[in-house]
Amino acid sequence: ERLSEADRALIARREKVLGPAYRLFYEKPLHLVRGEGVFLYDAAGETYLDAYNNVASLGHCHPRVVEAINAQTAVLNTHTRYLHEGIVDYAEALTATFPETLSQAMFTCTGSEANDLAVRIARFVTGGTGIIATDLAYHGLTSAVAEFSPSLGEAVTLGPHVRTVPAPDSYRHAPDVMMEKFGRDVQAAIDDLKRHGIKPAILITDTIFSSDGIFAGPKGFLKPAVDAIHAAGGLFVADEVQPGFGRTGEAMWGFERHGVQPDMVTIGKPMGNGYPMAGIVLRPEVVAEFGPRARYFNTFGGNPVAAAAGKAVLDTIREEGLQENALEVGRYLREGLESLTDRYHAIGDVRGSGLFVGVEIVADPAAKSPDATLTTRIVNGLRERRILISASGPRANVLKIRPPLVFSRENADMLVDGLADVLKTL
Ligand code: PMP
Repeated sequence: ERLSEADRALIARREKVLGPAYRLFYEKPLHLVRGEGVFLYDAAGETYLDAYNNVASLGHCHPRVVEAINAQTAVLNTHTRYLHEGIVDYAEALTATFPETLSQAMFTCTGSEANDLAVRIARFVTGGTGIIATDLAYHGLTSAVAEFSPSLGEAVTLGPHVRTVPAPDSYRHAPDVMMEKFGRDVQAAIDDLKRHGIKPAILITDTIFSSDGIFAGPKGFLKPAVDAIHAAGGLFVADEVQPGFGRTGEAMWGFERHGVQPDMVTIGKPMGNGYPMAGIVLRPEVVAEFGPRARYFNTFGGNPVAAAAGKAVLDTIREEGLQENALEVGRYLREGLESLTDRYHAIGDVRGSGLFVGVEIVADPAAKSPDATLTTRIVNGLRERRILISASGPRANVLKIRPPLVFSRENADMLVDGLADVLKTL
């Protein structure tokens, strides 16, 4: 299949005006014009199964969220320095989904800002500056946050106060090793910071290690690491920007599966089902001193439209049982993917939690040798079959499957059949 004239022209215009920093997915880029539920439609009228986009967590253009945004936009949209019920109602509903200790919320517009603010708060309250993150973490785009987002590659230099630790790789380590390795690595990073005269401020991890290759278990492996950072006087920040809002199925928040208590939780992406909103949910003690001195203000964060969108999202997750659906369909999907491993040896590992699934593609299952080239061909092969996923991990060989939470068993069958069909031809 070749690109249309019109799409070629659009790509040329785009490159000219947006410059070289922007990227497009796929060898044959996709020109989308509409979305509904788990389906996306392109300019030629073709239908695609979306198994990748986690922002539209309730399904694309969910009518309830669209209606909430429209209705509030038509009435009032101002900043947070006036009294308004919307933000308070929403913050109450949001914090009610967290353990009791995490009872306050602060709102931003992006996950990057949320992580940036979390660092400022942590540095203020701990008096430390050190940051520990994973080897291939992504926490956002601001200067401060990019300094501990090694997945950005050569364009960023990690800060002198930053230490990285390997993400715990459940495919290559036995469960008993997994249970203690991450804690040991974090302790070594703490010791190294101290040796350099740097007091640790935070350990930050994505609780399903999205960009490190998707590692969901064994449950509890985070605990020793969280204990270590606490013992060193630092805070634990759970980055739930990708795994949060029910996606991992067993719990609303990824950290809950590990039985740990974060000091701050950063959230975003699916929070407004596409309306840009993000924030931090935290322990009140963490912000008690910072708060009154901070003059915290965010022009758009937590405005009445954001609050309305966020509330509609929370209500829909509950009323449509989307967390339960993620658990049930996620399990069914992983079983379907695992059923392919006998026939297709390129599938080295199927892992994940709920509707956050990673499939590791290898050249040789005995050696567990990553095959990035084959992975790219699979992603593009699925795109030709009108199924959308992506890839992640340090060797770009982990299929990243992260569909809207309304994904059905039938959708899962389509994905598994599509993958089998691609593997057959490669
Ligand atoms: N944290 C994680 C784990 C993310 O995946 C992202 C976005 N990919 C961010 C933070 C930053 O969020 P945003 O793009 O909204 O700034």
